[in-house]
Amino acid sequence: MKIETDGLVIREQAVRESDKVITVLTGDRGVITAYAAGAKNIKNSKCAATSLLTYSQFNLYKGHERYTVDDAHSKELFIDMRTDIDKLSLAQYFCELAAVVVPEGENSKEILRLALNSLYLLNKGSRPNEFLKAVFELRLMALCGFMPNLICCAECGCYEHEQMRFYPDDGTLLCGDCAGITKKHSIITGMGATTAMRHCIYAEFDKLFAFSLSESSLPVFERAAEEFTLAQLGRGFKTLDFYKMIKT
Ligand SMILES: [Zn+2]
Repeated sequence: MKIETDGLVIREQAVRESDKVITVLTGDRGVITAYAAGAKNIKNSKCAATSLLTYSQFNLYKGHERYTVDDAHSKELFIDMRTDIDKLSLAQYFCELAAVVVPEGENSKEILRLALNSLYLLNKGSRPNEFLKAVFELRLMALCGFMPNLICCAECGCYEHEQMRFYPDDGTLLCGDCAGITKKHSIITGMGATTAMRHCIYAEFDKLFAFSLSESSLPVFERAAEEFTLAQLGRGFKTLDFYKMIKT
């Protein structure tokens, strides 16, 4: 069966002399793996379009066991961020995270849109890397079934509290007055980071990146999003470790 789809290459593995196996985040069938014969050869027309972090149009053949790339044309290469090691390593973390949480075979239009928008802004450099990282993590997790409950304090229902705390293991909030009921690990997200996290989860997609927060809230926002992601998935990521290592 022949299929035409657009997708972002989120993993690229060399096989044999000149072939590649690529993992692609598509808009209509989730994350798929496809075999690209000859694509390792730089003279091959599929070479650039099947490279990591490239958004391409694919003509695929779907066999019984796997997809094969008949033809591919790149639509966006995100060139600028490729020479910035911080941005490139963060983009690779986005890819690894998507490869883990996005299921195969499901409509994933909004997830693809999230990934492309995050990479577009990262490439452009108009928002801090830490900001994009937290927005991407929280929205992706919510889209993939890991939805935190950030509406109000899980105990008393209060919406605003200067000492609002976020519990990464549960994905819940407790206000400063109720925090004493548990000894579980929490982060004091206050109103700045709490409001930012709420926006990432509940805002309409068109407005997702259209907010800002204070310089002092940004590290808290970033830490809370990351801890939530790792706690929910119960694992770490090599690309995240690398990103953090080169940052320090
Ligand atoms: Zn409370």
